[in-house]
Amino acid sequence: MRVGIMGGTFNPIHYGHLVTAEVVRDRFKLDRVIFVPSYHTPYKGRIHPASSRHRYKMAKLAIENNDYFSVSDIEIKKGGKSYTRDTMKEFKKSFGKETKLFFITGADAIAQMPRWKRAKELSTLCEFIAASRPGFKLRRLPVKYQRHTHLIEVPALAISSTDIRGRLKKGETIKYLLPEDVEKYIYKYRLYGSKPRRY
Ligand code: ATP
Ligand code: MG
Repeated sequence: MRVGIMGGTFNPIHYGHLVTAEVVRDRFKLDRVIFVPSYHTPYKGRIHPASSRHRYKMAKLAIENNDYFSVSDIEIKKGGKSYTRDTMKEFKKSFGKETKLFFITGADAIAQMPRWKRAKELSTLCEFIAASRPGFKLRRLPVKYQRHTHLIEVPALAISSTDIRGRLKKGETIKYLLPEDVEKYIYKYRLYGSKPRRY
C-alpha cells in the first residue's frame, strides 16, 4: 500500500488542501490519503482556531465524495502538541512495514521541516511530497532531506484558511473557496465570528 498523510490545522479545510491532496494521490498512485487535523500545532504562534472537534467535522464533510480520502482524529484524541514524527510512527505501526508512507505538505510547510522535532528520524519513516503554493517559493531543502523529498506542481489556488477567517470576520463571502457543506457548517455554528447568511 501507498498511503499519503496530509497534516494541517484545517482551520477551516478549503479547496487548496483538497486539490493538493487529489493531485498528489493521482500522480503518486496512492491507495489513500488521510487528512490529520492537528490538536494544536507548535510553531504557529497565536491564532484563535475553531475547536478541534469542529475542524475534524469540517474535514469529514469536505472529503465525503472522494473514496480515496479519509480523516483521522489521531492527533486530536492524543491532545497536546502534535508532532509529525509521533503521528507517522503511529501510522507506520498500524499499517505495517509493507506500507509506504508519504507526508504531503505545501511549499510553506516543507520549508519549516528542518525545524521539526526529530526531523531526521521522521525522514526514515516516510517520504515527503512538497506541493507548490501561490505566494511561497519551493526552496531547496538541506541536502540530508533532499533525497526523501519530491517536489510537485499543483494547480495554483491562492486560498488560505487565514484569508477565509478574515473574510468571515468582515462579513465577506467565502463561497467557492471551500466545499458548500463546510461553508454551511461554519455559518450554522457561527465559527470565526461569522453571522448567519443566505447561501
Ligand atoms: P493557515 O492560513 O491558518 O495557516 P492554511 O491555508 O495554510 O491555513 P494549513 O492547515 O496551515 O492551511 O495547511 C495544511 C497543509 O496544506 C500545509 O502543508 C499547507 O502548506 C498546505 N496548503 C494549504 N493551502 C494550500 C494551497 N492553497 N495550495 C497548496 N497547499 C496548501
Ligand atoms: Mg498554514
